[in-house]
Amino acid sequence: MKLTPLCGKVYLVGAGPGDPELLTLRAVRLLEKADVVVYDHLVSSAVLDFVPQTAERIYAGKRRNEHTMRQEQINALLVKLALAGKQVVRLKGGDPFIFGRGGEELQTLAAQGVAFEVVPGVTAASGVSSYAGIPLTHRDYAQSCIFVTGHLKDGTADLDWPSLVRPRQTVVIYMGLGGLPEICRQMMLHGASPNLPIAVVQDGSISTQKVVTGTLADMPERVALAKLKSPCLTLIGDVVKLHDSLAWFSPKGNSVVEKEVTAQKGRPQKEAVSA
Ligand code: SAH
Repeated sequence: MKLTPLCGKVYLVGAGPGDPELLTLRAVRLLEKADVVVYDHLVSSAVLDFVPQTAERIYAGKRRNEHTMRQEQINALLVKLALAGKQVVRLKGGDPFIFGRGGEELQTLAAQGVAFEVVPGVTAASGVSSYAGIPLTHRDYAQSCIFVTGHLKDGTADLDWPSLVRPRQTVVIYMGLGGLPEICRQMMLHGASPNLPIAVVQDGSISTQKVVTGTLADMPERVALAKLKSPCLTLIGDVVKLHDSLAWFSPKGNSVVEKEVTAQKGRPQKEAVSA
C-alpha cells in the first residue's frame, strides 16, 4: 500500500502495570507530542497524567463484559486518525504484545498502509511480580516461567494443564480471577500438590495493591474473603514462598520493612493479605 504524504503515524505504546515510574522514556516522549491518545481501561490515571492538555483523549474501554468499542471499531478509528494526519499514541496496559491484541491492531494498520512503531512496556508478569516481591525464577525454585491467559470461555477449561503442572516452573496467569476455582481444581486434578503456593495480586504497583497468598487447596476461599477485584495477576509455584521475606512495596508509601520496624517493637506480623 502507498503512504499518503499527509498520513500520520500510530505509536503502539505499553503503559506498564500502573506505576507511572515504570513508563519508558520513549513512552513519555511520545505522549508529550501526541495529537490523540487512545487508551484502554488498564491504563492507570497516574499514567494518563502524562498526556498533555493539548492532546485529545479517547477511551477505548475493554473491561471484561464492558466492551466500550469493539476491536474492529478501535482498528478503524486508529486508521482514520492516522489518515487525518494525526500523531496517535495507542496506549495499552503492560506490554502491547502480551495478551494485548497489539498484533491485531498493527495488522489492520499494515493492511491500510499506515505507518506505525511499537514501544514495549513492562508487562504485568514482570512488573506485578516485582512489586509483590516474587521473583519469577530462582535457582532453588523455578528454572522456567510460563505466561497463560485464564480467561476461560463459558467457564470451560481449555488450558494445556499437563504443561502447567510441570515441576520447578512458575505459572503466571493473566485474566485468571474469575476462573480461579476452576484453575486450582484442574491443576490438582492434573497432579499438582494441593500445597503448591499461589499468590493473587490485585492492582500491582499502585496504591491499591493487595497480595493474597495461599495454596491451590485454599486459594479460592482466601480470594473470595479478600474480595479482590480485577485486574488481578495469579502466580503459581514455589517462588511464591519468597513473598514473605522479599515483599518491599507498601502501597501506603513506606517499604514493608520500614513499616514493620516503625510500627511496633514486638515481632512483626505477616498477614496473608499484604496491602
Ligand atoms: N498487555 C497487558 C495484559 C493485558 S490482559 C500486560 O502486558 O500486562 C489484562 C490482565 O493483565 C489482567 O486481567 C491482569 O491479569 C493483568 N494485569 C495487568 N495489569 C495488572 C496490575 N497492575 N495488577 C494485576 N494484574 C494486572
